[in-house]
Amino acid sequence: MTQSINEFDYLCIGAGSGGIASANRAAMYGQKVGLIEANEVGGTCVNVGCVPKKVMWFGAQIAEAIEKYSPDYGFDATLNHFDWAHLVKNRQAYIERIHSSYQRGFDNNGVTRINGFAKFIDANTVDVDGTLYRAKHILIATGGRPTLPNIPGVELGITSDGFFALNEQPKRVAVVGAGYIAVELAGVLHALGSKTHLAVRKHAPLRDFDPMLHETLVEIMAEEGPTLHTHSTPKQLKKQTDGSLQLTFENGNSLEVDCVIWAIGREPNTDQLNLAAAGVAADDSGYIHVNEYSTTNVENIYALGDVIGKIELTPVAVKAGRLLSERLFNNKPTAKMDYDLVPSVVFSHPVIGTIGLTEPQARAQFGDDQIKVYTSSFAAMYTAVTSHRQATKMKLICAGEDEKVVGLHGIGLGMDEILQGFGVAMKMGATKADFDSCVAIHPTSAEEFVTM
Ligand code: FAD
Ligand code: NDP
Repeated sequence: MTQSINEFDYLCIGAGSGGIASANRAAMYGQKVGLIEANEVGGTCVNVGCVPKKVMWFGAQIAEAIEKYSPDYGFDATLNHFDWAHLVKNRQAYIERIHSSYQRGFDNNGVTRINGFAKFIDANTVDVDGTLYRAKHILIATGGRPTLPNIPGVELGITSDGFFALNEQPKRVAVVGAGYIAVELAGVLHALGSKTHLAVRKHAPLRDFDPMLHETLVEIMAEEGPTLHTHSTPKQLKKQTDGSLQLTFENGNSLEVDCVIWAIGREPNTDQLNLAAAGVAADDSGYIHVNEYSTTNVENIYALGDVIGKIELTPVAVKAGRLLSERLFNNKPTAKMDYDLVPSVVFSHPVIGTIGLTEPQARAQFGDDQIKVYTSSFAAMYTAVTSHRQATKMKLICAGEDEKVVGLHGIGLGMDEILQGFGVAMKMGATKADFDSCVAIHPTSAEEFVTM
């Protein structure tokens, strides 16, 4: 008996940031769209990424405000208890509301949600848990998952996914890794009161960021915590008789904690997709290669977001997804994603913001004599009246005679909200003179970028 096939114009595999954006946009142009998701709608960002992370980070901000800053502002506030489970409950209720709002969007746009795990049968057909779906165009937006270190006892630790599943606050925790996730989770746990260690295998976390950023972060960590362990590559994790965990490093040092979080990077969700059946090529790490129009080596199959391993950020996946649908279904043959000058923020303590080239990159690209660097360093005003003064540092990197701003970096309170507008200016090709032509907003930290 032949199996019936459900026909669509466009199938999107993965209802995360990229898949949802592309599916909705295609449906708005009248396409019959199927959006396939194996887990919760919203993908990494909504369920185990940006959204729950930022909620926890806001909680951490509140703890810091009460504990560190409120006394010097004259408040008699004492932090008696923090109810982790209460915050998690409210966080998850918020995420449920986001799920519902996505569903309303699908209903309004006419996107069909298909629950299940997709595997390719051929270049136009996928199998979702035994049911076949066919389409002229297929998008792969299956995102990624945390990478685990290859060491004994790895299964005793958790990843960022496990962090968001914690219903109890760990008393002592070690976060292993040196990127966005390690820095953010260690900062949140420390601020919320866990005894927190951050273990990096080289000299600093975020070492590929502009040196001013990671150097300042390390200085602030030394003053405020969490406890940073450099040159500490994990060797093994063991459970002790009292139930605690012993994390041993290759340098012979060890830590005794209740929870270990692996945050050493992510890898693409492509190994179970049966890409070979569709003829889609991936590299040795599983990332799918696409051209500038998000098309794979198979002309009707596209890929974007974390699965292509380019810039792993939600707004990048969203924009690439929408642009792809504009190109395919709205007669815009040249619409394509621009991966240049993408602003990015690390929700560290304090926040880091960055756009464009680091100083070493700019010097290598343009030559030392073509680069002019402007910096500013001050105590964030919010902290300046307290005994917990905290540094803010900012840097503009300008290239050529016209001093085009090619790099903008900052660490300090409010940097997350400061950055977006400067991203617009840099996309427009702003020079130092353009920055200077804008009147400062006083008193803010942001004004330093236009008064250097
Ligand atoms: P995803 O959002 O991962 O979606 C992929 C979806 O595909 C998943 O829902 C998955 O279940 C589904 N799927 C996979 N395989 C199949 C299959 N075969 N069949 C059906 N469904 C499948 N970015 C920011 O911009 N800002 C932040 O603050 C930020 N914080 C982050 C914090 C953490 C802890 C993490 C892990 C990530 C964070 N990110 C952040 C990155 C951001 O979450 C990702 O870049 C973004 O979610 C990528 O979107 P995507 O559509 O490529 O994939
Ligand atoms: P990252 O790639 O940012 O960082 C992982 C780091 O861990 C590596 O750079 C490496 O640093 C270190 N590492 C790698 N292998 C090992 C190992 N075996 N042992 C110890 N350390 C190791 O990955 P993340 O998982 O932090 O984040 C993935 C991506 O998700 C980010 O790149 C970002 O795009 C996105 N994201 C964005 C956020 C935001 O926008 N705020 C927040 C969270 C994630 P080194 O070489 O220095 O040791």
